[in-house]
Amino acid sequence: MYKARKFPRNDSLSGWVGLLPARQPRPALNDNINADVAIIGAGFAGLSAARRLSQLDPTLRIAILEAGVVGEGATGRNSGFVIDLPHEVSSQDFGDTSNERARRDITLYRTAIALATDMAGQYGWGREILDPCGRYSVAISHKGDTHINTYARQLQGLGEAHEILDAKGIQAVTGSALYTSGLYMPGTLMVQPAAYIRAVADSFQAPVTLYENSAVKSFEKQAGSWLLKTAKGAVQAGRIILANNGHAQSFGLFRGQLLHVFTYASMSEPFDPKRLAGKRDWAATPALPMGTTVRRVSGADGDRLLIRSRYSYHAGLEINEGHVRSAGRIHDIKFAARFPGLLNVKMQYRWGGPMALTLNSVPAFGEIEPGLFAACACNGLGASKSTAAGIAAAEAAMGLNSPMVEIFRGYEAPKNLPPQPFLSIGAKANLSVREWRAGAE
Ligand SMILES: Cc1cc2nc3c(=O)[nH]c(=O)nc-3n(C[C@H](O)[C@H](O)[C@H](O)COP(=O)(O)OP(=O)(O)OC[C@H]3O[C@@H](n4cnc5c(N)ncnc54)[C@H](O)[C@@H]3O)c2cc1C
Repeated sequence: MYKARKFPRNDSLSGWVGLLPARQPRPALNDNINADVAIIGAGFAGLSAARRLSQLDPTLRIAILEAGVVGEGATGRNSGFVIDLPHEVSSQDFGDTSNERARRDITLYRTAIALATDMAGQYGWGREILDPCGRYSVAISHKGDTHINTYARQLQGLGEAHEILDAKGIQAVTGSALYTSGLYMPGTLMVQPAAYIRAVADSFQAPVTLYENSAVKSFEKQAGSWLLKTAKGAVQAGRIILANNGHAQSFGLFRGQLLHVFTYASMSEPFDPKRLAGKRDWAATPALPMGTTVRRVSGADGDRLLIRSRYSYHAGLEINEGHVRSAGRIHDIKFAARFPGLLNVKMQYRWGGPMALTLNSVPAFGEIEPGLFAACACNGLGASKSTAAGIAAAEAAMGLNSPMVEIFRGYEAPKNLPPQPFLSIGAKANLSVREWRAGAE
């Protein structure tokens, strides 16, 4: 029997949820039901798996079990970049990958983007949920400029569209005089992450059923099928897709292989758009992997800026308000440096959220035992990677040997991490050194 020893907690309210009207969560499971497939977790991985399964067989009875409320987990609290190009968060340089690996990543990420845009077309979602506007990579130092040029050269070699911007060019977009150069890449899809995942969740109809506030407490094999138990109900299912990212470890799976790193964001109160020149909607990732993400979003009450920065390691899969506050102090410094004209604009929301990385940046994917499939370990880029993993897990669970399944089966297994306390000491030291190296970026 696999028994959960820990459940997710989402304490700080993310700005993305804060900006949306209240939503009525789907009822919790309080009955004994049967399903063809049970999915644990309603984030990018879980809901993409459900979507793909129902495309492959619309008659499949799918039960999705979510511990919390859709949108309040990491999927609804990220910066909203569904990136289509190589972007290894744990790398030294986003461009340090071979062309063969880059093409594999592009295939995965564009399949993920196709799933999202296909749903947007089917349900008529607007740009307030999903916007194919592309993204910028931005530098504020000579080192950052060098990284941008190296990355642009790789894109050139891959035949991928991009445009290099000098300091004036990127200032015309961001209104910030701090940036020394920028690189525009048109293929990234930007989502309002909480609005997106709510829209996906609310699109499901019978025979796909989502149960919120329904943490899976245990699951076990019984007479050829799986029995999953929640506090008030149970599901008898032919197959399980485990889509709960780092919490796979809470069931004793991938033990010693998942690195629990949290990252943080702050979102400003609305300000008069006339106070900041440039475009009203843009999104920029840092030239250096450990740097600062910035996004400007327009709204009826004014524009807001989001700052995402700071990584911290937490073996126990939990953070507290102190961690969010301490990241917030760093966000304020980064905000003031980039937007000195907005100094009296305060941050309205601050939050943090978990990611699950592996030492060799591979997913925790595959059929763990007959009928139990995993689509976990987002490696910091879950909007693309977990969506792709969910699609591939759905196809594998249907017995398909599709190109997506082949790519995922081609990954090596996650490497074992060093034992504690060496792991905590090493992870914290590594993050500190890399953040220090990224400097003001
Ligand atoms: C501030 C921040 C900014 C980020 N920005 C980006 C970005 O711009 N682009 C990007 O690609 N990535 C970004 N990320 C990372 C991204 O959010 C994650 O990679 C992504 O959410 C992983 O998706 P997932 O579906 O694998 O896991 P999750 O989103 O973690 O979903 C797993 C779900 O499983 C549920 N669960 C866990 N245990 C159980 C249980 N026992 N029973 C039932 N349900 C359970 C959880 O409640 C959760 O809803 C960011 C993360 C943060 C925190």
